[in-house]
Amino acid sequence: MFRKTEETKVLRDPIHGYIHIDYEVVWDCVNSRWFQRLRRIRQLGGAYMVYHTADHTRFAHSLGVYEIVRRMVTEVPDLANALDEREKVTVMLAGLLHDIGHGPYSHAFELVSPLKHEVYTCRIIEESEIRDILENAAEGLAKDVADVIRHTSKNPLLPQLVSAQLDADRMDYLLRDAYFTGTKYGEFDLERILRTLRTADEKLVIKESGVYAVENYIMARYHMYWQVYYHPVARSYERLMAMAFTRLKDLCRSGKEPQTVSELLLLGRNDELSLEEFFALDENACSYGFYLLSKADDPIMSDLSARLQNRNLFDYRENTPEEEEKVREALLHAGYNPAYYLARDAVNQSPYIPYNKESGTAIWVRMHGGTVKEISEASSIVKSLIRGPVLKDDRIYYPKEIRTMIGG
Ligand code: ZN
Repeated sequence: MFRKTEETKVLRDPIHGYIHIDYEVVWDCVNSRWFQRLRRIRQLGGAYMVYHTADHTRFAHSLGVYEIVRRMVTEVPDLANALDEREKVTVMLAGLLHDIGHGPYSHAFELVSPLKHEVYTCRIIEESEIRDILENAAEGLAKDVADVIRHTSKNPLLPQLVSAQLDADRMDYLLRDAYFTGTKYGEFDLERILRTLRTADEKLVIKESGVYAVENYIMARYHMYWQVYYHPVARSYERLMAMAFTRLKDLCRSGKEPQTVSELLLLGRNDELSLEEFFALDENACSYGFYLLSKADDPIMSDLSARLQNRNLFDYRENTPEEEEKVREALLHAGYNPAYYLARDAVNQSPYIPYNKESGTAIWVRMHGGTVKEISEASSIVKSLIRGPVLKDDRIYYPKEIRTMIGG
């Protein structure tokens, strides 16, 4: 039995109306310093440089994912009946904590960090005071929560609620990012999806009558990727940030560490951070660090930092061998070191990935007759979407200042 809070705690939220918390262990995690740190990590690293109101945080998103999972395990009858209380609390906590290991400016940070956020997430759950909160509530709970995130739970249903192809994480970030960027086509009918969710043979499935809502969700995701997450200006900001991180590392490792008091130096010195170092390295620390580094003696370091501060972003164009050569020559001619001023970035995105062993995930539909089919078999829209080529976008980024030298 898990202890309940005296009364249900409610937190206002623009996407869900209210977030409802009635377990003490969930409330204690929310009030821990590690969860509060997520107020200092934005949800959309570079995209907020394009969509100026999109500076919402991982704190709000994490609460939103928790709320969707909470609704799944209480409002979807198959789940409410099939899961016991411990499993319900475990998967709600996994929803709440799934992004707790995100570093500053997530994508830029991951470009220069050998450890992915999932690794920090599980370490924080199993090694920090979050672990004590979980273990005080129930023995073995920290491992159970981390197992959901690692997709190694005993009950295969649990990870599907948090991270698959139709899951609480994606549903919250799509709706939230659409709301805060103002892009209406990121919206879809969450209520309809929740109402038509069922389970069949340890799989989360959608009733056939929910297929339209899922088609809409897949299209929303597709549009959000190309219009928001992969916006070339957002990627320009992330590349610039990654270049600044790289320069800092190179300076620290060649004995020319800039004289600043910033936590940024921790990242410059080490590949792998201790949990305390990782805690200190939030976006406030980075932002102040880049302000200090904009005054550094090293001209590359100070220039990249000033560009970040003033949103003096890199220009971009399609990446071909000829274009890259042209840009490289112009950079050298103008005195820029291409190691820090020429970035490459290729992205691709499929609207839906059919089941394969590697991903292990799919969206399943329970047909009226009771058979279970993959969404690409049950929906002609999804079927035609996945037949098309995978959309790719491959670009190079460089300072605006060489624009006149390369034309176009
Ligand atoms: Zn997330």
